[in-house]
Amino acid sequence: MLQTLKKYFGYDSFRPLQESIISHVISGQDSLVLMPTGGGKSICYQIPALELEGTAIVISPLIALMKDQVDALRINGIAAAYFNSTLDHAEKAAVFSQLQSGALKLLYLSPERLMSDQAYFLNVLKDEKISLFAIDEAHCISQWGHDFRPEYRKLSKLKEHFPNVPVIALTATADGRTQADILERLNLNSPKSFISSFNRENIKYTVKPKQDSKSKLLDFLATQKGNAGIIYVLSRKSTEAMANYLVSYGYNAKPYHAGMKREDRDANQDAFLKDEVDIIVATVAFGMGIDKSNVRFVVHMDLPKNIEGYYQETGRAGRDGLQSEALLFFSRGDVMQLRGFIEIEGNEAQSDIMLEKLNMMVSYCESRKCRRQYLLEYFGEDHSGNCGNCDVCLTDYETFDGTIIAQKALSAVARLKEAYGVSFVIDFLRGSKSAKIKDWHKEIKTYGVGSNHSKKEWQAYIQHLIDSEYLKIDGGKFPLLKLGTKSTAVLKGQISVELIRPEQETKDAATYTEELSYDSGLLETLKSQRREIAEAEGVAPYLIFSDKTLLELAQYIPLEFNHLERISGFGSVKLRNYGEAFLTCIQTYARSNGLETKILQKPIPKRRKQSYKQKTKQTDSARLSYDLFKEHGDVSDVARMRNLTEGTIEGHLLAFIDSGDLALEDWVNEEVIIMIEKVLKEIWPKETLR
Ligand code: ADP
Ligand code: ZN
Repeated sequence: MLQTLKKYFGYDSFRPLQESIISHVISGQDSLVLMPTGGGKSICYQIPALELEGTAIVISPLIALMKDQVDALRINGIAAAYFNSTLDHAEKAAVFSQLQSGALKLLYLSPERLMSDQAYFLNVLKDEKISLFAIDEAHCISQWGHDFRPEYRKLSKLKEHFPNVPVIALTATADGRTQADILERLNLNSPKSFISSFNRENIKYTVKPKQDSKSKLLDFLATQKGNAGIIYVLSRKSTEAMANYLVSYGYNAKPYHAGMKREDRDANQDAFLKDEVDIIVATVAFGMGIDKSNVRFVVHMDLPKNIEGYYQETGRAGRDGLQSEALLFFSRGDVMQLRGFIEIEGNEAQSDIMLEKLNMMVSYCESRKCRRQYLLEYFGEDHSGNCGNCDVCLTDYETFDGTIIAQKALSAVARLKEAYGVSFVIDFLRGSKSAKIKDWHKEIKTYGVGSNHSKKEWQAYIQHLIDSEYLKIDGGKFPLLKLGTKSTAVLKGQISVELIRPEQETKDAATYTEELSYDSGLLETLKSQRREIAEAEGVAPYLIFSDKTLLELAQYIPLEFNHLERISGFGSVKLRNYGEAFLTCIQTYARSNGLETKILQKPIPKRRKQSYKQKTKQTDSARLSYDLFKEHGDVSDVARMRNLTEGTIEGHLLAFIDSGDLALEDWVNEEVIIMIEKVLKEIWPKETLR
């Protein structure tokens, strides 16, 4: 399997789960695969299709994308075709004869084509050897999913026609209910579900205040020169205004929204896919099914309606695995506007759900919790925080003893009988003269005790108290501030509370361009070489090679043909077809610029992700955990003392293991270490072990 991966796709190792999924399909069994966008689902059926005898049938709802997918396979030397209404008669006949001669490894079809009432295609396929059925976007079969398509329902009968052909259903979005529904609707035969982590490690999440967002955007774009990106805005009108604004600053930007003329819209999208346009300014209508792998940044100028949408949109960045940016501009002002948008008249229950989702989106923005941790926990996945790749983790927040502030807030909430929302409580604390504060409120002892802090400061403090579970938010339409589990201890003065000083800008971490040194002139030359080949072959440039491959070329400067093999993305077919062209390009450039090869510096393929060492850091907070751990020697004690989870404390301590201040043996039984090392040696080649 690894050989097939290298030969056809040019990759050195599988991503998590890919290998087990592939073995499972090859053994003839049914499966459901849940992986985030860009996670690498396609390979899970493409490799079995190559390994098994016969033709694999791939069901995909988006006819417009079939060509792209098939082009990508053909470029890798794989016999693939699609059959849909965009083909003319002669082309259709050609696909049929290829299929019947047994030459096709993969055939892409829409569900309605396969399951048409006349069962025409079904009957044709029954005479052929079919290796497997892959059902892409499988959530479309379920009404619980967010994109139900009635034509998918017909696939329920598929198993009756082909009881012995393995089916692999794939999706990037399905909650528990939708997953169960997919299995049932497809009548899968003792299926196995493979659910991968939704963590997108290479995406850096940043939230910035919306004030001056346009000039902040220009600052940001200055760090992204020549990179591809999507900028999401709320209204159709602002797509055009913003695109014009960017053009006036010399950026190559185009608008996209559902109200545009179809030709214009398609032309702009196409230009973006082909790297002729760098930036698309779009409404959320843009992006569904787009699998351009080199999108380097996604910006939200306005607040998204919910975390689901935000995560899907940011997920369009960095499918090639390179460091990418997700930047969001947040203002509470957007919340009011969105409330109007999302309320569904006459459907209170649905409106409540939408409002609650919006509240979660707001609290994501205001939170000082690791963004990745917040997002993953939202989707039901554990994460210990301290990801090292979000604005929260990259900022050394200055903290201070906020016990008195916390006591004021908690006592106000208690005395107001937990019956008011955040903004009321803040006004109350600040002694506001607003009419909503009645005389009897003013007689309460805590009225006005917080007048020494601004409204903004209080917002930050209260959000932080919510993050650390001293307070909680309850309810959809009119969310109320309530006491949390740890409130009593604070009010009684039994524990102290650490707060973050508000209003600190994030220090930007090094971007990947600084981490990897490469010759930018060479990279430009390689990009134009790629564009030339893509034009000649009539496909999008990223199908020829991803940005990652070009970056590696510019970085390691291979000067001999056989060195190209060590560059990620060079499978045997691409090596044969494009190897010479790129090599000549590099040789010429290297000669005239006096560059030498650095290929020997290229590490041997690693089978694991970046080690924790680069990510951990010894913050003040981590230092406190470390000191307490030294004193008490027990992670769960420290977690309790600090009111943090054990996972977080362990994350803190890892930084000290990396630096050598803590010995692993102090913590993990030596026999256990030996056992783990033994297994590691079996599954990883020696060189990758430190
Ligand atoms: P999905 O369908 O899950 O959104 P894709 O199958 O399009 O994702 O894969 C996303 C990107 O990751 C593609 O560019 C693909 O070639 C690449 N990829 C997939 N598997 C691997 C791997 N094992 N090593 C390196 N790159 C991979
Ligand atoms: Zn983080």
